[in-house]
Amino acid sequence: MVTLTRKFTVIPDQQQSEVLWELSETCRLLYNHALAERKFLYDSYNKRITYKDQQNALPHIKKLFPRYKQVYSKVIQMTLKKLDAAYRSFFGLLKSGDHTTRPPSFRGKNYFFTLCYNQSGFAITQHTIQFSHKHPSKTELLFPVPFDFTTVVVKQVELFQDHYDQRYYLAIVYEQDSPVYVDNGLYQAFDLGITKHTAVNLQSKFFESTVKRPDKYWQPRVQSLQQRRDHCKKHSRRHRLFSQRLRSIQRKCANQTKDWQHKQSKNFLKNTKANTIIVGELSPKQMTAGTLKYQKSVNRGVHNTGHLGRFIELLTYKAQLLGKRVIVIDERATSKTCAVCGHKKIHLPLSERLYHCEICGLAIDRDQNAAVNIMKRFLSHNALWTGYQQFLSAVANLRYTVNGKTTVPPYLIDRGSTNS
Ligand SMILES: [Zn+2]
Repeated sequence: MVTLTRKFTVIPDQQQSEVLWELSETCRLLYNHALAERKFLYDSYNKRITYKDQQNALPHIKKLFPRYKQVYSKVIQMTLKKLDAAYRSFFGLLKSGDHTTRPPSFRGKNYFFTLCYNQSGFAITQHTIQFSHKHPSKTELLFPVPFDFTTVVVKQVELFQDHYDQRYYLAIVYEQDSPVYVDNGLYQAFDLGITKHTAVNLQSKFFESTVKRPDKYWQPRVQSLQQRRDHCKKHSRRHRLFSQRLRSIQRKCANQTKDWQHKQSKNFLKNTKANTIIVGELSPKQMTAGTLKYQKSVNRGVHNTGHLGRFIELLTYKAQLLGKRVIVIDERATSKTCAVCGHKKIHLPLSERLYHCEICGLAIDRDQNAAVNIMKRFLSHNALWTGYQQFLSAVANLRYTVNGKTTVPPYLIDRGSTNS
């Protein structure tokens, strides 16, 4: 079973969009009141109110204010749940030591409040979807659906409006059957980087693919626009115009990155026979830690394409659909450790792209070294010793490139002479 989300546009007519906005407004009011209640109780009595308390008060609220009866009951509940989730993530971040995080804020009236239909309240046929509501106008909320959802289990439907392009979207969350995963004895380890992804298999064959960087192309444009905007008076016509253009460019850049990630992850999975894909997790926090001056540009790179987490997500669900599995392991120290002798360097600046081991003489591309270590770590953690032995001998037979010349590491020559 794989949980997937499909998003597409719907085009409501005038009457439907009026109804949608009124339903959204009702949810927004409830959200804001519930938030105010939480804030008030906490500020004046130091008391915390739970989702359950607020949900139990709903029947009473509906009796007092008939407006809340207009929205489908589950949607109202999901509104409160959304607030609860916002608070949970806020407290979670606080607990993990992030003190820049802010508590949930009130929702403005210019923004459409997402209507979330969980489990019920919608009827899907082969070509249409219909939503329940009790708005007095009795307008039918019936929209065409571009895909057939009758063969899958639909869990949740969200109806929202993109504030930027003013279009309405449906996000349908559904579960789909997938082939059962079988370990076929083939593995592929990935080192995900900022500029390139490096993969290695048990035969120690490397596969590299460069990461497309649309942000590099857009960055100068964004900067010049920002500069020009900052010279305008705030809220002036020109300021608004520049902001608009800036947003459109940033959107375009994000879309291009996302599109590329979809294609790349798909290609990866199509081109590998391995059923198990191992990915070293790269935490941006760990990468940006450090006080070295030259790290500035690298930091920017990490943050801008800080979509590596999303790349892993895409890879994971696409793999599941093919009956493959993605395993994420901790990649700490994998780039600092020598792939052959295990010697660990104390300091290895990010700018150094070649790994050179002083102990065994290994000279190898930094990312390839990391990929080998990720594979080794995975095999030894899971006690796959036959694979481990096979991989070790493959790694030992690697030839190493030093200053453009291919050489055999000295320790290999030594061992060869003693054996013969
Ligand atoms: Zn070494």
